[in-house]
Amino acid sequence: MKTVAAVLRAVTDRRPYPESKPMVLEEVELGAPRAGELLVRIEAAGVCHSDISVVDGSRVRPLPMALGHEAAGVVEEVGPGVKHVEVGDHVVLTFVPSCGSCAECSSGRPALCTPAAVANGAGTLLHGGSVLTGRDGRPIHHHLGISAFSRHAVVARESAVVIPQDVPLQTAALFGCAVLTGAGAVLNTAGVRPGQSVAIFGLGGVGLASVIGAVVANAWPIIAVDPVQAKRELALALGATAALSPEEAEKAVKELTHGGAEVTFEAAGVPAVLEAAFRVTRRGGTTVTMGLPHPTKTVSLPALAFAGMGQSLVGSYMGSAAPQRDIPRYISLWKAGRMPVDRLQSASMPLDRINEAFEALAAGQAVRQVLLPHT
Ligand SMILES: [Zn+2]
Ligand SMILES: [Zn+2]
Repeated sequence: MKTVAAVLRAVTDRRPYPESKPMVLEEVELGAPRAGELLVRIEAAGVCHSDISVVDGSRVRPLPMALGHEAAGVVEEVGPGVKHVEVGDHVVLTFVPSCGSCAECSSGRPALCTPAAVANGAGTLLHGGSVLTGRDGRPIHHHLGISAFSRHAVVARESAVVIPQDVPLQTAALFGCAVLTGAGAVLNTAGVRPGQSVAIFGLGGVGLASVIGAVVANAWPIIAVDPVQAKRELALALGATAALSPEEAEKAVKELTHGGAEVTFEAAGVPAVLEAAFRVTRRGGTTVTMGLPHPTKTVSLPALAFAGMGQSLVGSYMGSAAPQRDIPRYISLWKAGRMPVDRLQSASMPLDRINEAFEALAAGQAVRQVLLPHT
């Protein structure tokens, strides 16, 4: 079938994006779902900083690529052998299509699935190859098995989590990346316990989802750090107990926690921010990092802090999630009013405004913008 997808053909760091126009809406040929795959009508797709990282080359991916990895939609067709999903089901898409049988999946760490990581790095679907073809007759790579900035997508069954039909798909989309990553870092990776002190650095969609996760975990205090005042205000509205600028954070976090937070989170993808989070982590505490800096970047931390002060540094990919378990669980919390994920959505717009959306996010002016491919 023919569909319309936003395709990146060349990396650029030229901004503003509405002028350099890195994302081009193209009519593409989308193959039918093969064995183990689904055709999904994409109803909502969130714009995430990882999309911009592909555009500016800090996440190196094969091009051309149809971007977008946080989305929800409706199943329109199922390929041979697909189980437990039917036409008409509503699904949230997840950017690690865990195979269920590799060493990592078998160890209960599906976010680190090896075949999924290989396919995502190569820009293919989990079961191999691409089903997207450009006008020039050449294949277009898939982004993290999803390629959601499109009217339709073919994905592996493993990329889809069936959700209740009464969840608005604009809200549901955010569970696929921001919530899974941000809340998961708190609830899965760190396993924050009631009364533990936490500080969260970087208040984009992921960091603000960490604030929501910290509230669910009954952490106290919950300190949110970001240079943008509007994001600090949103963190307070979501349940943070204090919100600080980076300049005030070093002194104020230590004062508010009587010596340092027990668990700190970095959600900025910037080494200096990770170092700042580490500095305000208490003796014996844990710093969790979930940002994705450029692969050549390094961090500098006091070597003595680990053995000498019992501090830990932990990486969290996709919130150490098991998506088939966690997304329904988080949606239940949302329904109960305990995960106000809707408030992360700062705007919604048609797909053809994608370059504007990228610019607003890159400029720090947006939290989560949702693209609506059928409006
Ligand atoms: Zn993302
Ligand atoms: Zn696996």
